[in-house]
Amino acid sequence: MATPQNGFLNSLPSATLALLTPHLQRSDLPLSREVHVVDEAIDAVWFPETALLSMLVPARSGDSVEAAMIGREGVAGLIETAGSGRASATALVQVDGAARSAPAAVCRRLLRDDEAFAQATWRAVEFQMTEARQSALCQALHPVEERLARWLIECHDRVGGRSPLPLTQEFLAAMLGVQRTTVNAFAHLLQKAGLIRYSRGSLQILDTEGLARRACECRDVVRGHRQRLGLLHAEPRRETQAGGTVVQMSASRTMDR
Ligand SMILES: [Zn+2]
Repeated sequence: MATPQNGFLNSLPSATLALLTPHLQRSDLPLSREVHVVDEAIDAVWFPETALLSMLVPARSGDSVEAAMIGREGVAGLIETAGSGRASATALVQVDGAARSAPAAVCRRLLRDDEAFAQATWRAVEFQMTEARQSALCQALHPVEERLARWLIECHDRVGGRSPLPLTQEFLAAMLGVQRTTVNAFAHLLQKAGLIRYSRGSLQILDTEGLARRACECRDVVRGHRQRLGLLHAEPRRETQAGGTVVQMSASRTMDR
């Protein structure tokens, strides 16, 4: 099996990865598949490579909010596997792509028997906690335009810079905690600045570096945490299409918030 392109798996010592590798399965995850459903038992732990997962937290009203995303830097379901065994959020495929998975029972055994695996799990817990706290700070203090630039760049980072990305306006609006019309307005500002192109339901990143400079400090802070915790992955590859990364801004889903 080819080397996994996942920051958590790559952070494991080779002896530990060798224990896990026979149990790792590679899958192509289709858009909108729910790999975990909130409150249900977790039977597999997922390590995205080019796929991007949204972590959906439900409200009693039936609405749900994307509280975090997990791409090739992270792991979904391992923390719960170490604890209750039940999903704390629904993990939905936001960007289709490749991922590895391992049976939860295998991960549970490694947590018990392999100290390096347990330590890596604690690092993943710490990363997700620090990221959640940073997002709370971001939501409270940083302007929408900077937060939009942050999420576009973070999506780009977490799927290795590939394109096109089928990100919905609903997703970006939910990540930012604003209405879709607000996302549209600020996307227009970024377009006027020559950083993105936004037309006919697709959003193209024209200037990755320029967009990164418009992003709030949170992208760098989160990257610093990831570096400190050894959850590294290769830098995103450069755009392969003339004009840059294409991010689909589908209006197929509606949301009134
Ligand atoms: Zn921020």
